[in-house]
Amino acid sequence: VRTPSAAELVRVWELGFGRVSWYQAVLLLAPAFPASTFDALAALSVGERNVRLIALRARLFGSSVEATVACPRCSVPLEFAFDVLELCPPAHDPEARRPAPFDVALDDELTLTCRPATTADLAALPGGDSPAQRGALIQRLVLAARRAGELVDPPELDECAAERIASALEDADPFAQTLMAFACAACGHEWNAPFDVVSFLWSEVTTQVHRILEDVQRLARSYGWSEGSILAMTGVRRRFYLERVS
Ligand SMILES: [Zn+2]
Repeated sequence: VRTPSAAELVRVWELGFGRVSWYQAVLLLAPAFPASTFDALAALSVGERNVRLIALRARLFGSSVEATVACPRCSVPLEFAFDVLELCPPAHDPEARRPAPFDVALDDELTLTCRPATTADLAALPGGDSPAQRGALIQRLVLAARRAGELVDPPELDECAAERIASALEDADPFAQTLMAFACAACGHEWNAPFDVVSFLWSEVTTQVHRILEDVQRLARSYGWSEGSILAMTGVRRRFYLERVS
């Protein structure tokens, strides 16, 4: 993982502003994995992508997270802290963990070979999180169908078959969705909620970029330097000058 520069973070934020989640995810990864093309990053499984985003988060902001969530039953805010690197193994060798295709037996006769979902699959769908959307996604993941060992055309999946594949997918690409367990101290309610690493990291990067652009604005106004030359400075150097402005 390479640490993106201030100028790169600003560019990522600018290009991804108001865009869909899968696009923001690839934009975030691009400067951190400069050897990979946009298409190669979009071809990562959703789990591999998440592992890389978590490694990037640790690189940019450290691995500890402190956040607040409201209890869905009594609305009391619950503060929690965790280490993002505990959610997944460090992204040292993504190739070694590249999730493989997997078989799902729908009945005694029919077996489907499926592959994990990638960002490119999410990009190919119209968006939103509806049952129809999830069904269309699962249908895309079927590589082959065998009836009694003979190759046949993949069938149109019903809800039950899609459910079976979705559950096999959790084992095949375990970091595609990370559930976190919560317990409310006020009312005792316990629940699980997914940790959405894309929206989480995007909002942190947005906050960081706003801070950088505030610095640019103050330094440009005080010294007349260009945006490009201020963005090219390290944070240490920007702060040095900012302290002398105020
Ligand atoms: Zn509660």
